Amino acid sequence: MKFSVLTLFPEMFGVLKTSVLGRAVEKGIIELNCVNIRDFSKDKHRRVDDYPYGAGGGMVMQPGPVYDAWQSVAGEDRPLVIYMSPQGRTLDQKLARDLSRENHVVVLCGHYEGVDQRVLDEIVDMEVSVGDYVLTGGELPAMVMIDVISRMVPGVLDSEETASEESHYSGLLEYPQYTRPPEFMGRGVPEVLLGGNHREIVKWRRERSLEVTWRKRPDMLEKALLTDEDRAYLKKL
Ligand code: SAM
Repeated sequence: MKFSVLTLFPEMFGVLKTSVLGRAVEKGIIELNCVNIRDFSKDKHRRVDDYPYGAGGGMVMQPGPVYDAWQSVAGEDRPLVIYMSPQGRTLDQKLARDLSRENHVVVLCGHYEGVDQRVLDEIVDMEVSVGDYVLTGGELPAMVMIDVISRMVPGVLDSEETASEESHYSGLLEYPQYTRPPEFMGRGVPEVLLGGNHREIVKWRRERSLEVTWRKRPDMLEKALLTDEDRAYLKKL
């Protein structure tokens, strides 16, 4: 899967070249192409922003350089264009799963007071927000979105099972995890995890998952896919 990021700060995206995503980029499963919008400025000082019409504070990103940057990556396949915006649809696991089926996504990062509306109307298919708060620029939101989507692209994680049991994938939060040593500060590891009985472990994990969700995010249980056994267990809680 390919991401073309249109940004004024391409150097920020170096973060995505580490850890799990870095390996996916190295293996060629994920392609990350950062385009500096400033390279498309026609101004001799490479300016890409100007004062807003109608006065008001701050600066607005001009439409021309954004449009030209988009044209440089759009090609014939006309990829989906997402504008990172606090006004957009809130990113969640379901949206990330849907987006992970795209071959190529263009991600536009705004800065300052935002981007001239005319170029947004011209090229943007979808606006995505990472939450109801305002950040300085679209770069951090874009990195969050690219990370979430990439984890769902087949081959990025070592094991599909690992992903499918994580919080939010299945509509529930994940069960607690333990590793060595078997005792830490007087606290042990649940006996069932040391026993090697796979069926018992699966049952324990499902019950803990239900319990954690019930305690931390009871609202999620309304939409989660539950079996009769799950419901009976929740009733006991
Ligand atoms: N004036 C804009 C408004 O009130 O809607 C906010 C501009 S914000 C300071 C600059 C840029 O940061 C935006 O163009 C957007 O790309 C990005 N941004 C800020 N908050 C965001 C959020 N919650 N989700 C996604 N992108 C965000």
